[in-house]
Amino acid sequence: MTDEPRDTDCMEVLDRLYEYIDGELTPERAAEVRRHLDACAPCFRLAGFESAYVRFLEARTRGQHAPAALRKKILEQLLLEGSSSESP
Ligand SMILES: [Zn+2]
Repeated sequence: MTDEPRDTDCMEVLDRLYEYIDGELTPERAAEVRRHLDACAPCFRLAGFESAYVRFLEARTRGQHAPAALRKKILEQLLLEGSSSESP
């Protein structure tokens, strides 16, 4: 295990967030994402929100997967809102 602070970029993490939540990443990749989330508050907050959103969506669609493009579009909107305002 190396200790590199910036081996995983925010956008890279967010790009893998769906797979991380769905448990589709390899243990190594999942560990990278988790390590970044532990060190990056904005990503951590977003991951928690996205995780809840995915569960909500899956509950509503009763197991049917929502289109990845739709999920990504919504997440990007959340990102824009999150970067423009700080909530306590
Ligand atoms: Zn980050």
